[in-house]
Amino acid sequence: MAVQELIGRLARDHWLTEKEYEMLLTCRFPEVSRQLRILADRERRRFCGTRVFLRGVVEVSSICENDCLLCPRRKSSDHCERYRLRPREILDLCDESWVQELDTVVLRTGYDTFYTDRMLCALLDKLRLRLPGCALTLATGERRRTGYEALYNSGADRYLLLEETTDRERYEQLHPAPMSWNRRLHCLSVLKDIGYQTGCGFLVGVPGQTAAELARELKFLEDFQPHSVDLVQMNTDEALTDDLISMIRLMLPEALITAPENRAGAVLAGANVLSLSLTQEQESAPRCGGCRAVTPATPQSIARLAREMSDIGFEIDRGPGDRNG
Ligand code: SF4
Repeated sequence: MAVQELIGRLARDHWLTEKEYEMLLTCRFPEVSRQLRILADRERRRFCGTRVFLRGVVEVSSICENDCLLCPRRKSSDHCERYRLRPREILDLCDESWVQELDTVVLRTGYDTFYTDRMLCALLDKLRLRLPGCALTLATGERRRTGYEALYNSGADRYLLLEETTDRERYEQLHPAPMSWNRRLHCLSVLKDIGYQTGCGFLVGVPGQTAAELARELKFLEDFQPHSVDLVQMNTDEALTDDLISMIRLMLPEALITAPENRAGAVLAGANVLSLSLTQEQESAPRCGGCRAVTPATPQSIARLAREMSDIGFEIDRGPGDRNG
C-alpha cells in the first residue's frame, strides 16, 4: 500500500497496524512529512481551532530516589542541584495573580517519598480553593492505588506519568531495579480507571531505538487513548519528533499534545500545549514527568510566546483545553 494511502487511512480511521506505523516511520521523505503536517493540522483545527493551551509547571522537587539511566534527576547524578519546595512555597507561587490566570497547573516531582499522599492531599485541598476552575495536574510518579484515589478525591484532575518505553527489555536497560515495567504500565491503567485525565508519552531518540520500537510506542498510545501526550526528545532529530506528533494527532484528534521545548515546528506538526516553568529549575526535568518547561512563566515570556504563535497563525489560550472546550 502506498504511504500516502496509509496516511489518509490514519486520518480517516485514527488507527493503523503496528507494521503500518513502522512503514510510515521508515519512509520519512519530505513529501510524507508534508502530507502528515497538512492532515494533522486539519484534524487539530477541527477540535480546538487555532488555540494552543498553556500549562504552568511547578518543579516541586529535584530529588529522586530512583536511578533511571537517561534522567538528569537520577539519584546518582552529581550534576543536578537538589531542592525541595515546601507546601507553603508552592501555595505562594500559585498565589501570583498571573499564575491564577493559567487554567492548568502541573505539580511535578521524581520519586520523592518526602511528599506523602497525605501532604499532597492537604496541598490539593488548598489549591482547589485558590485556583477554582484550574485543571490541577500531578506528575508525582508511581504510587499505590489508594494514594492515587486519595489525590483524585482531593481535587487532582489530571495525572501525567510517562511510560517512556513500552519495550520491556529497553525499559529494564534504562530503569534498574527496583523499577518495574509491569508496575509503570499498571499505574497508567489504574490512573485511567480511577477517572483521571491521564497523560503519557515516550522517549524519542534513545540510542539504538528502531522504527519497529517507535511503531510499538504508537500502537500503545492508540490502544491506551490518553488524554494528553508528551514526547521527550533525547536527540536533535526534531523532524522525527514532529512526524511522530503529526501521527499522534491523526490517531488522537482531541488529545492535548505538548510541543517539546515549546517549538513552533512542533505546534505546526499538531501539538497544542506549551509548558511554562513556574520555578527556576528547567534543566533537569524528570524523564517520567513530561516535557521540560523551558520558558519561564512571566508576563513578558507569555507575551513573547503569544507573538511567536501569532506569527504562525495560532493564539495562546489560558483555558484547560478540556475535550468539551
Ligand atoms: S525518570 Fe523519574 S523516576 Fe526515573 S530517575 Fe528520573 S525522575 Fe526519577
